[in-house]
Amino acid sequence: MNLITHWIDGKPHDSQSNRSGSVFNPATGEESARVAFASIQEVDLAVAAAKAAFPSWRGSSLSSRMQIMFQFRNLLDQARDELAEIVSAEHGKTKPDARGEVARGLETVEFACGIAQLLKGDNSQQVSSGVDLSSIREPLGVVGCITPFNFPVMVPLWMIPIAIACGNTVVLKPSEKDPSAALELAAIFARAGLPDGVLNVLHGDRIAVERLIEHPDVAALSFVGSTPVARAIYEGGTKAGKRVQALGGAKNHMLVLPDADLDLAADAAVSAAYGSAGERCMAISVVVAVGDAADRLLPKIEARIDQLRVGSAENPEAEMGPLITKEHQAKVVECIESGLEEGATLLRDGRSICIEGYEAGFFVGPTLFDHVEKDMRIYQEEIFGPVLSVIRKEHFSEAIETVNANPYANGTAIFTNDGGAARRFQREIEVGMVGINVPIPVPLGFYSFGGWKASLFGSNSIYGPEGVNFYTRSKVVTTRWPDPEHRGVDLGFPRSR
Ligand code: NAD
Repeated sequence: MNLITHWIDGKPHDSQSNRSGSVFNPATGEESARVAFASIQEVDLAVAAAKAAFPSWRGSSLSSRMQIMFQFRNLLDQARDELAEIVSAEHGKTKPDARGEVARGLETVEFACGIAQLLKGDNSQQVSSGVDLSSIREPLGVVGCITPFNFPVMVPLWMIPIAIACGNTVVLKPSEKDPSAALELAAIFARAGLPDGVLNVLHGDRIAVERLIEHPDVAALSFVGSTPVARAIYEGGTKAGKRVQALGGAKNHMLVLPDADLDLAADAAVSAAYGSAGERCMAISVVVAVGDAADRLLPKIEARIDQLRVGSAENPEAEMGPLITKEHQAKVVECIESGLEEGATLLRDGRSICIEGYEAGFFVGPTLFDHVEKDMRIYQEEIFGPVLSVIRKEHFSEAIETVNANPYANGTAIFTNDGGAARRFQREIEVGMVGINVPIPVPLGFYSFGGWKASLFGSNSIYGPEGVNFYTRSKVVTTRWPDPEHRGVDLGFPRSR
């Protein structure tokens, strides 16, 4: 069986460890490859390659870095379909969905193509007599990037292009569940002219991540994944003196007011809850229906669910694929069972779905619960599957309080035709990304992406201007060139006049 292995210092690195994991085709349930798990020595090798590449990479001109980025952008554009195939084969998402993720990744590359503009500093002349002041931004060094399974192309592209365009070097540890896309990205970067060692890819599990956290030559960590791991990486990384941004899980609510266009709201709820089988950190997992909205909205949602086509990515008609692993499928089924036991009303049940020819695939069909309450497990946990819960609230204020009381705060949306209500929602809601009649408000590449509370640890969101901020540190330079009228020794504190 094929063993997927690392990319260190510009070339494939045959695994020296005897540890590996399974990679599955989630639609068939069969093991499709093995992936090497890096040893501590291999992490050290990758970090050493990145460290060695750093001085000349940070010294390279901005225009040469931009040329590589433009070239990478063009090669990535040409490789869209090939990458989408790789993603669908290991993740299971449909091909249009996989192509969509590559397209969103391209946006952040395009943002990084403008790095010369983004790294302009500030300069003030004559801040004191004969004194000028400038602030400049410099790279950090070696950055460790750790990414989740659900966007094996897009999330690495939230980090790598900006990190390297700013002059850093990178060790990427992608998810072990769908590892091949990261290697393809590294190969495309190499073809674009990126020097050896600037981007290294290490496969593995927590052993590799823990070594990156403690490694003295790693200056910063960017993490995207579940909240418990995000919290641990933030705590461990900052304790080790590193700069850390760690994006975690989510429980995204969509409020529907009685005056909303309910066909629009039903389309949005079904698309955002079941797209990518609910394995998106911006998926809607809770609809909070206000007043009499639920009674009118639910039949529309049910009618749309009944039209959904679930299947393998090989089936061009399929709109929703399988979950990532058998264990995850079992966990989602267990959550659905808990919802029933705790008294929620199950309107659509995806547990027993069977796809002809794919009986061993990790499928769960679209599932819908009504009358969900705050203390139920299906409300409290991030299920990360195709399960939508409906909570009913009498008043708008109670709906806002419900969202604000949730520990997660990644994305949220409101559906209404009342501008005043939308404005109040925008101002009072304690969530990082807000959609108004938009169900999945993922900011474009020239803004930044990030939630609040348990959805983001650290002060910087990812990509966009905050990405540039995260991957650079500022240096302020005060300059005086001697002139004939200098005043001699002065032990007083420096004055500006
Ligand atoms: P995960 O936390 O299990 O894994 C993420 C990465 O951390 C992987 O590379 C994995 O190998 C590594 N890892 C896992 N356990 C670890 C441990 N104990 N110690 C050190 N490293 C560990 O997440 P996942 O299942 O791959 O991805 C799904 C999660 O990611 C969901 O919670 C989802 O909401 C979240 N997510 C968040 C965002 C966001 O922007 N906030 C985006 C995408 C996904």
